Amino acid sequence: MKLFSLNTGYFKLDGGAMFGVVPKSLWQRTNPADERNLCTWAMRSLLIEDGNKLILIDTGIGNKQDEKFLSHYYLHGNDSLDGNLRALGYHRSDITDVFLTHLHFDHCGGAIERKGEGKLRPAFENATFWSNERHWKWATEPNAREKASFLAENILPIQESGQLKFVDPLVEGRNSTTLGFSFELVNGHTDAQMLPLIEYNGKKILFMADLLPSSGHIPLPFVMGYDTRPLLTLDEKARILNLATDEEYILFLEHDSENECILLQKTEKGPRLLEKGRLIDFI
Ligand SMILES: [Zn+2]
Repeated sequence: MKLFSLNTGYFKLDGGAMFGVVPKSLWQRTNPADERNLCTWAMRSLLIEDGNKLILIDTGIGNKQDEKFLSHYYLHGNDSLDGNLRALGYHRSDITDVFLTHLHFDHCGGAIERKGEGKLRPAFENATFWSNERHWKWATEPNAREKASFLAENILPIQESGQLKFVDPLVEGRNSTTLGFSFELVNGHTDAQMLPLIEYNGKKILFMADLLPSSGHIPLPFVMGYDTRPLLTLDEKARILNLATDEEYILFLEHDSENECILLQKTEKGPRLLEKGRLIDFI
């Protein structure tokens, strides 16, 4: 097995929205804001080469949205999914599986592209796209609060292509897949978000997605304003960050603008940062 961190690009989101009830005087120490109060975030995917499978976890925002939509998110930098795949010697068509932690646009927008005459189709022609039945229903019949994050053009064409598969019916906590890794099920950010747990050379790498978007979110009460069930996120964070310190998980951060991965330690105040760095330095 080989693992690669793959940044699909950077975007900006309101710092206050990203830290919920935490005052700016606290969060700006780790995540400085620009003059519009926006902070920079990565959209970092994980690429897993395992035998004849090449699995991509999340896809970033993609490039099919119109200028007006994208102007709200200030995409910047030179990273791109295609460019970074190419640098690793791969092409989109090599991807066999795309595993979507959840269907918010900054996680799955890259799954669908716009081709000639505006037709929407999967951006990975040979891939199976993985979601779960409960989250799919949640995303395709969205509540008013998450409606702006679940874009029909990111989601419905996956199903229409026939390339969509659901993982087995969910159980609380740890779930298995047929892809060579398991995942933790969490429901606080959105319903039925999946956090892949990959075992590699005796180490365990947990893809944190939106349970822990950045190293600035380590203190338990630092929960995003976007979360639909913040009290549940608090419980889930406590459970999973405790597990991470007990079992020395390497935490892979999808949205941290600088650190691909971190290790945590237990302190009297709760979990705190122990080490930060690149995925290759931890594995
Ligand atoms: Zn999300």
